[in-house]
Amino acid sequence: MKAAVLTSPQPVSQRPLRITEVADPQLKPGQVLLRVRACGVCRTDLHIVEGDLPPKESGMIPGHQIVGEVVGGATKEIPSGSRVGVCWLGGTDGTCSYCKRGQENLCDAPTFTGYSVAGGYAEYVLARSDFIFPLPTALDDLYAAPLLCAGIIGFRSLRVAGVEPGERVGLFGFGASAHLAIVVLRSWKCEVYVSTRGKSHRDLAASLGALWVGSETEKPPVELDRAITFAPSGDVVIAALASLRKGGVVAINAIHLDRIPQFDYDGLLWGERQLRSVTNMTRADARDFLALAAEINLKPKVTVFPLDQANEALIAVKNDAVDGAAVIVPAGRLA
Ligand SMILES: [Zn+2]
Ligand SMILES: [Zn+2]
Repeated sequence: MKAAVLTSPQPVSQRPLRITEVADPQLKPGQVLLRVRACGVCRTDLHIVEGDLPPKESGMIPGHQIVGEVVGGATKEIPSGSRVGVCWLGGTDGTCSYCKRGQENLCDAPTFTGYSVAGGYAEYVLARSDFIFPLPTALDDLYAAPLLCAGIIGFRSLRVAGVEPGERVGLFGFGASAHLAIVVLRSWKCEVYVSTRGKSHRDLAASLGALWVGSETEKPPVELDRAITFAPSGDVVIAALASLRKGGVVAINAIHLDRIPQFDYDGLLWGERQLRSVTNMTRADARDFLALAAEINLKPKVTVFPLDQANEALIAVKNDAVDGAAVIVPAGRLA
């Protein structure tokens, strides 16, 4: 099959993904074999490809927002031809103290799709049968793909931040995840304030119902109840913290940050403000979010790249040149 294989981590401008023929994946018990219909591009893919996250395996195939069609390992529950989603959390041990506590997102021995096991920048992929999610037929492949990480982890970020209906919520950065989170927030009647770089991202935020939109260094005109940061930048985290009311929460939706600068405890954190990270996702997050997405008819804005242009897709994400989400599609799937 054709796949985009990471040779060795380096800046994406060096085109570290090689588009090449590799051996077809071999089905094992407890797995399904999927023909990939679409695979969303996540900022985490960029961190893997550029080496911000240490490599787990050589020759990795990235991609963890996979819409696939079951072509092997079908069961009565998941018949051949069904369309399913695969997410970042590719599996857990089910036995560690976190799994037993219902916190499988913190599992001590997880597998991550497109990082510790091969992902969806390919024509075929394997997935654990108990870590796939049936997709509503109404949801087109291209619209479904970005929901599977950008959507689910954005949704988890809102949960971690403790967002209540009607609250004032700040989104710092406005990429694939934030442009889905804002639609969820608007459905909860929240006031949304967006600070982001790039005029087209600001225009998109305004068109999706942001009450106020500013540049990445601008502070919203009101004190926020909650803030979610999406940029891999500690400066942005501090800007979000500085925008909170007492008792407010910042949730950091980023697997990697450049660093966190020194900041003033008395002025910024005192007052029972909280700074929290958002780590991975649970299967319950995925199920709850996909149900909500269908209910509110959530449709991401997508830009399609053929598999041959996987490097270009990552370059575009790095440069904030994509409004909404980038989605990779194997050549045979381009209608
Ligand atoms: Zn575990
Ligand atoms: Zn992701």
